[in-house]
Amino acid sequence: MNKKPDSAGLDNAGAGTRAVWGGEQVRHPYNATQTPIVVSAAYGYDDIDVWYDVALGKAPGFIYSRMSNPTVETLEAKISELEMAESAVAFSSGMAAISSVLYTFLAHGDRVVSTKDSYGGTNKIFEEFLPRMGVEVTLCETFDHEAIEREIARGCQVLYLETPTNPTLKILDIQRLVAAAKRVGALVVADNTFATPLNQNPLALGVDVVIHSATKFLSGHGDVLGGLVCGAQALMSKVRHYREINGATLDPFSAYMIIRGMKTLVLRMRQQQRSAHALAEFLCTEPLVASVNYPGLPSHPNHAVACAQMGGFGAIVSFVLIGGMDTVKVLLPRLRFAHCAGNLGAVETIYGPARTTSHVENTLEERLALGISEGLVRVSVGIEDTDDLLDDLKQAFAFVRCLREETSHQPA
Ligand SMILES: *Cc1c(COP(=O)(O)O)cnc(C)c1O
Repeated sequence: MNKKPDSAGLDNAGAGTRAVWGGEQVRHPYNATQTPIVVSAAYGYDDIDVWYDVALGKAPGFIYSRMSNPTVETLEAKISELEMAESAVAFSSGMAAISSVLYTFLAHGDRVVSTKDSYGGTNKIFEEFLPRMGVEVTLCETFDHEAIEREIARGCQVLYLETPTNPTLKILDIQRLVAAAKRVGALVVADNTFATPLNQNPLALGVDVVIHSATKFLSGHGDVLGGLVCGAQALMSKVRHYREINGATLDPFSAYMIIRGMKTLVLRMRQQQRSAHALAEFLCTEPLVASVNYPGLPSHPNHAVACAQMGGFGAIVSFVLIGGMDTVKVLLPRLRFAHCAGNLGAVETIYGPARTTSHVENTLEERLALGISEGLVRVSVGIEDTDDLLDDLKQAFAFVRCLREETSHQPA
């Protein structure tokens, strides 16, 4: 597609402008203002020499949509603008992106260092699949930066980070761990799904490869799966080559849905994290809540690091209910403006206990070892009005209190 002749690029533009115009300062066929969904599996050529040049990558163009597709390329250009990356590669899901990055850069005999709190699916790759192909995996306590640095110093090919973590919102000091990784020549990969490119740009902090589950905040409406990988051109061509062969390409319909959602990312996130902060502060005052996790609270153990490396604290809050699963079962169904579901990053507020969402595949013992109690609930705060979300929580807590009083007043 042709660049608009008067296009000045987005070099000095803010995140909101990049989200709208990134990848889309182009002239489309028919003068369409919106990115076309190009469904063609293959692209035709009458001139065999031109075809050959395109196939060899010597001339621009498309050959077959497992390799590249115009709609998917627009999405890749848009996330590149937001993460300020040279290049990006789109996948059929966040997990396809994560597994493909790990399989691109790790080989038999290599070692990867990460933390115990990574996303459940990522953790399964570390514990189940990588060891099977002869990759040594060391998972450190997420809060223990000294231990992570010690393990990095022993030598590794990949350092894999995720911050803030799911569902306990721990914060890793990206620059500090990147420095340790650079000393041993390791590639640093970061899952930036929870922060979003609005709040955190890991590439600017020295990370080599940034991954997003576009299923979450980027698409923003809980109606599409996708994954995105960003970084320098040289690294991304390796990831792209792996995708061409492994085939976990994003389809053009999904790419369009994510492009459409990303245009409102900045507006959504501003509202969502404002409400998240208000909910976190309210939860701190609620007697039925034992503890609250939110990087924006001064009481968060790594609040200072979060302030330094994040532009905002995100829209996920988690808290521990007194009374454990019994309280969870009464409180959650009582909420009027919330889905109880295993997703996050949508315009609707979503509540879910760790037991049925992020850590459904773990046993009770494993969850407790990770510091995840049965009363831990994660909230992905939506774009509803802040006061409505606060009132909703308050009425649900009032209901729980009523029930508890009734039961405690019953004759023994
Ligand atoms: C959801 C999620 C993933 C996996 O993404 P899918 O699109 O569901 O495959 C990876 N990392 C984080 C932090 C997530 O929240």
